[in-house]
Amino acid sequence: MRSLVLASRNAHKLREMRRLLEPAGIAVQELPQGVELPPEDGATFADNAVPKARAAAAAVGGPAIADDSGIEAAALQGAPGVRSARYAGVDATDEENLSKLVREVPCDSRLRYVCALAYVNPDAGEERVFFGDCRGRMARSRAGAHGFGYDPVFVPDATGDNRTMAELSDAEKDAISHRGHAVRALLRWIRL
Ligand code: IMP
Repeated sequence: MRSLVLASRNAHKLREMRRLLEPAGIAVQELPQGVELPPEDGATFADNAVPKARAAAAAVGGPAIADDSGIEAAALQGAPGVRSARYAGVDATDEENLSKLVREVPCDSRLRYVCALAYVNPDAGEERVFFGDCRGRMARSRAGAHGFGYDPVFVPDATGDNRTMAELSDAEKDAISHRGHAVRALLRWIRL
């Protein structure tokens, strides 16, 4: 497979998916205008990712992937989780969601990014979900301008220093991120 469509309107996710998949020889196409994605009302990340990938695959008649992802705060018993994109309200911006997390979650408490990556190939009748996570903690203050969403307050464990995800280079984020781990699981399966 040389090309697939990403079932998302999130430009940040598209950019990260291209970075992760194109070096492996897989082109990531933008979702065509007019294709409607189902509402994200599932109880789990996988429940949300699979219908999005199915809708995109049906619309383009070829393989599709969908990423449903979010952040879980131990101090909030795992919230906002699947509600991460609408944590501060249905039409909340990344900034509003981030500010709410900063208000509600103590510094240094545990955080985890989670990604469910659904892959649907209608020709082969294949449907799979791959998972990745990235553990870390709440920063003492916001830092960095890279990445998106909650990255300025997420200090990943894997770097072993105090930088937030938004202070990492693209390559550093991709090597440790929830999305990077999920995409590498997909690539291992594709190459089986
Ligand atoms: P989705 O479109 O429902 O998957 O929304 C994902 C939510 O989690 C959005 O609020 C994102 O900002 C947040 N999110 C997912 N992945 C990342 C990431 O890599 N960095 C920062 N925020 C993320």
